Amino acid sequence: MNNFESLSLSEGIKKALKKINFDKPTPIQAQSIPIGIQGKDILGSAQTGTGKTAAYSIPLIESLLKADKSMALVLTPTRELAKQVMDVITSLLSDLNHISTACLIGGEQMTRQLKQLKKRPRIIVGTPGRINDHLDRKSLKLSEAKFLVLDETDRMLDMGFGVQIDRILKFVPKDRQTLLFSATIPKEIEKLSLKYLTNPERVSIGATNIVATNINHEVLEIKQEVKYSKLIEEINNRYGSILIFVKTKHATDKMAKNLTKDGFKSQSLNGNLRQNKRDKVMKDFRNQKFRILVATDIAARGLDVPHIENVINFDLPQLAEDFIHRMGRTGRAGAVGSAISFISPRDLSKWNEIQIMLDPKLKGKVGIKGKKSLGNATKNRKKTTRSKINNNEGFKKPFKKKKFRKDDNRDEGFKKLFKKKKYSKKNIKKRRA
Ligand code: AMP
Repeated sequence: MNNFESLSLSEGIKKALKKINFDKPTPIQAQSIPIGIQGKDILGSAQTGTGKTAAYSIPLIESLLKADKSMALVLTPTRELAKQVMDVITSLLSDLNHISTACLIGGEQMTRQLKQLKKRPRIIVGTPGRINDHLDRKSLKLSEAKFLVLDETDRMLDMGFGVQIDRILKFVPKDRQTLLFSATIPKEIEKLSLKYLTNPERVSIGATNIVATNINHEVLEIKQEVKYSKLIEEINNRYGSILIFVKTKHATDKMAKNLTKDGFKSQSLNGNLRQNKRDKVMKDFRNQKFRILVATDIAARGLDVPHIENVINFDLPQLAEDFIHRMGRTGRAGAVGSAISFISPRDLSKWNEIQIMLDPKLKGKVGIKGKKSLGNATKNRKKTTRSKINNNEGFKKPFKKKKFRKDDNRDEGFKKLFKKKKYSKKNIKKRRA
């Protein structure tokens, strides 16, 4: 399918697609839209940034156009993602403004949401907690919700929303169409799909355990204590907006303050911020009012800010799969992105886990789990760098670097994309001297 014209879409959607310059469907859209508009359930996996939102939003709107009273519910793991999804749906409704919507997310005033609900919205996008609050208050009725989307389902389960989703689904009619999207489809998602989907069609775009090939990723072995000074150097050497991931909420605030003091306009994003502050930060980042966003993994999933040229993993993620999602924040919609991960000795076991996720063949070949062996691994690595590279095994293997070129369109494993840089206090001094 080369264009949207070949799909039997309603005029309103076709016009809206033209307005937002969506000429050709992306692969996930080409696969999902025909199935979705036939009314079938979908179990879908796709890498981030592939156009997944419109892939389910277009069939969702088409389904509402067929039945006067029916409603659609979209569940997302984070408030930011819910808002982003709402924006996409709103743009697709530009010629269909008789369909009203409500975005029901935590941290926002109930009164405002109650007002939206009084207008009998037919599309509800929200996070599981707030949707349940409304169900408890009886301000939301889902008996007409004949179209259900579970977006970023793996993330919702990671965040402990499983019970909340089960509860919401008790209010939704059994006779409905369900589209479940997840970055990966591990066993627990498959189980969930048996519970909630009816004869779903499987839709999948690309391997989900690789970093997109348009992202140039470097790995830097570094001592913990010199991470910040190296960060400054990396920022100075890079162009464009930067998203820095750190481990804790507190660390995001501290780093954003320090960077601002050091002359780089920065803001932090974490789950402790009030919702209006979170919205303001995201709005200002989108509008390029500041260059650096320091975030926890709250920003790892789904966020679509096209101008993020760089992702810096100052700390590695707690969950290995979030590594892929973090990388997906740059190189959006085919643009070229750049990323670097700082790996200090204390990150080694996490890094090994990430590498095995990216390339299961490395199981048993990378590093050693546990603190004691980690120390040894680090020591051994320093001593035996050359021989390890030569015989191409053991700890060194995953760090074998090869620079990825823009014109290189291999669709191969992640380890091919690394470029190694060594960095230590000594080196900084040397370079500064
Ligand atoms: P998503 O994966 O839904 O977050 O979309 C990723 C990016 O791709 C967003 O910036 C979309 O606006 C863009 N996009 C999605 N579908 C299309 C399309 N058919 N044509 C052009 N851009 C698209």
